[in-house]
Amino acid sequence: MSLHFSVLASGSTGNAIYVETEGQSFLVDAGLSGKQMEALFKQIGREMKDLSGILVTHEHSDHIKGIGIVARKYKLPIYANEKTWKAMDGLIGEVPLEHKFSFDMETVKTFGGLDIESFGVSHDAAEPMFYVFHKDGKKLVLITDTGYVSDRMKGIISNADAYVFESNHDVQMLRMGRYPWSVKRRILSDYGHVSNEDAAVAMSEVAGDKTKRIYLAHLSTDNNMKDLARMSVSQTLEGRGILVGEQFDLIDTDPKTPTPLTAI
Ligand SMILES: [Zn+2]
Ligand SMILES: [Zn+2]
Repeated sequence: MSLHFSVLASGSTGNAIYVETEGQSFLVDAGLSGKQMEALFKQIGREMKDLSGILVTHEHSDHIKGIGIVARKYKLPIYANEKTWKAMDGLIGEVPLEHKFSFDMETVKTFGGLDIESFGVSHDAAEPMFYVFHKDGKKLVLITDTGYVSDRMKGIISNADAYVFESNHDVQMLRMGRYPWSVKRRILSDYGHVSNEDAAVAMSEVAGDKTKRIYLAHLSTDNNMKDLARMSVSQTLEGRGILVGEQFDLIDTDPKTPTPLTAI
């Protein structure tokens, strides 16, 4: 069995991604209420009690809202780096010491035959990091919540079979929108979120001959739309000589509905 995964929920209202392989299954973030998390698992036919653990990306509430509740209920190990653990203190309630695990940035942890690699991103949190899953030569990259994609990140995430890639906002919608300027500036900064165009440019540089699917993730509710994101990413890719549907497919994610559990 190679890697199976589902983007359970994605967007500023809450993020959670499920990844499984033989004997191991992980949740990356639990940014929705305990109840909502239960409902999402039901939709993909899995149960949270069977999880091997929860991997945390960073302490923003759209990533950790349900973590404490879920981990306490099902006695699940939580993995995060030290700075994120400190930043989560007081935000996720009591977590027993035996369920607290450290996962340093830019390290690899092995669970059975599954390698999970962490890498740092550029975002206004304590020490934000995302994950690459490696199993039997297959590679799954998760990358959202970053202001830009650095050359270093590109090296780590290149030529994956599948990506869950942030395509946060349309720059025009954001600029014209109702957000106060300070918030707009934060989103547009190097420590904010990646726009549709910037995401597409990064995709064109990291996608390779193995790449089959890219999930457009963490879309802003106020400053983006699924159709707009897909169109704008496709156009930018096309301008760089990549035909969506031929080289790889672009797939929508949703704030409330999980993508089907799929193998890569
Ligand atoms: Zn987020
Ligand atoms: Zn964030």
